[in-house]
Amino acid sequence: MPDSSLPPDATPPLRVTVDLNRCQAYAQCCYAAPGHFVLHGREALFYDPAPSSSARLAIERARVSCPVQAIRVEDPERQGR
Ligand code: SF4
Repeated sequence: MPDSSLPPDATPPLRVTVDLNRCQAYAQCCYAAPGHFVLHGREALFYDPAPSSSARLAIERARVSCPVQAIRVEDPERQGR
C-alpha cells in the first residue's frame, strides 16, 4: 500500500535499524555517514531511522563498514525487484 503522506512522485525513505545489542560502538558508521549516525560518549549510538533515499549511498557505506553487521537497511524502492 502506498504511503499517503508522501506526494505521488516522492521517493519513500529508507528504513534503518541498528541492533544495539550487537553494536560495539566502533563508530565506523559515523565516519561513513556523518549526520545519520552519531555516537554520544562511548555507548550511545543515535541514528536516523528513516533517511531520505538521496542518502542511499552513505547509508549503504555505513552498513558495509560495520564490523559486526549491526546495521540493517530496507529500501522500499528496491523491494520486489
Ligand atoms: S559501525 Fe556498527 S558497531 Fe560501530 S557504532 Fe556503527 S553500528 Fe555500532
